[in-house]
Amino acid sequence: MVYSQVEIAEWQREYPVLKNVLNLKPVFWTNPNFKGINEASLPITRDDIEAAEELWQRFAPFIEKEFPDTHETHGVLESPLRPIPHMQARRLPAVEGSLYLKCDNELPIAGSIKARGGIYEVLQHAEKLALDAGILKKSDDYAVFSSERFKTFFNQYSIGVGSTGNLGLSIGIMSAKLGFDVSVYMSEDAKRWKKDLLREKGAHVLEYKGDFGKAIAAGREETNANPKGYFVDDEDSKHLFLGYSVAALRLEKQLQEQNIPVDAEHPLFFYLPCGVGGSPGGLTFGLKQIFGDHAHCFFVEPTHSPSVLIGLATGEMDHVSVQDFGIDNKTEADGMAVGRPSKFATPITDQLVSGIYTIDDDELYRLLSMLADSEDIWLEPSATSGITGPEHVLEYCRDQEIAMDQVTHVAWATGGALVPKNDMETFYEKGKQLN
Ligand SMILES: *Cc1c(COP(=O)(O)O)cnc(C)c1O
Repeated sequence: MVYSQVEIAEWQREYPVLKNVLNLKPVFWTNPNFKGINEASLPITRDDIEAAEELWQRFAPFIEKEFPDTHETHGVLESPLRPIPHMQARRLPAVEGSLYLKCDNELPIAGSIKARGGIYEVLQHAEKLALDAGILKKSDDYAVFSSERFKTFFNQYSIGVGSTGNLGLSIGIMSAKLGFDVSVYMSEDAKRWKKDLLREKGAHVLEYKGDFGKAIAAGREETNANPKGYFVDDEDSKHLFLGYSVAALRLEKQLQEQNIPVDAEHPLFFYLPCGVGGSPGGLTFGLKQIFGDHAHCFFVEPTHSPSVLIGLATGEMDHVSVQDFGIDNKTEADGMAVGRPSKFATPITDQLVSGIYTIDDDELYRLLSMLADSEDIWLEPSATSGITGPEHVLEYCRDQEIAMDQVTHVAWATGGALVPKNDMETFYEKGKQLN
């Protein structure tokens, strides 16, 4: 369905933010449906996060054994929280409070935030299959997942996923390691190196012309046609969501270790890059469970892919896509290039997110080069988008009577470690020219 000019004009009359959104202008939108954590009605609870963390712990011996880059943390996939004072001084000199970067670009195995959601979903599926088959007890040492016996067992099952890139990498790498027959459905214009890496790891890569939505639809159909197939559905997944939410438990410890206070006078502001809305939704859910309303969460989307913003602003949720409104969904931020919001995550986000801003591709490159120069931290374009968050929330802080100099701002850096050197140099040069 693509709306006519008359229909679009009606939408814009009803929801004025859509004027700039449809003209591809950067906007800041505050959420009129926001509910405090105690008023929100949610389909999952803090117990679900704790249960997800326990699953991660059970699998740690297997992960440690199979992935050398997790030896140091004994199989726990976590990333550092780093202050970025030089970047703050350069890019946001007028902003008060302290700016931190949550460096999920450094997450082992997948080099992106998908190491949380994607890998979690594969692990919970593998565990369920093994428990159901009677070859595993939850009290076993999960290093047994490395055995030939287990790999042969999983080889009869297939896993499919539709991905613009990073989700496919996380699912493909972990599924292949466990022995699954794994297929990743991608749009033809997905990054070449991501496809090559997946094939090298033993995944099948299937390419589809046109929009990414087609790749997901084909993947869902083909995978589900096999009775032993399991489709990881980025458009509607509770497991991905829970995998992401665990980050909040871990962050609580990191803040304590760094003596960063969190209370009504010292709130936390999070700026979360958003594609389908699963990772920022899962993080927001987790952060609100742990920090209550001392955590203020904002999403950021590309001006060419404002899918969650349109879904929330119109109240249509996953029933509308950016293409319905004549927006092309074309952006260099491939981690965020999703035209339709998640069915599972969006109704939760609707209650918990404080606001959303949009950002131009050029700005992503500028931030990328500036961060490399000022902090020697190298991100992929999508992952830089949270850094400008603090400059959007001045009015929000005034309205809520929050003293900005006491705020801890956390930009969530969602990916970058696996980007090949040549590609990264091209990104960097592009940003240099724009700065
Ligand atoms: C996937 C991804 C996002 C957004 O996550 P969604 O679950 O799609 O909203 C942001 N940045 C990067 C680098 C990603 O890979």
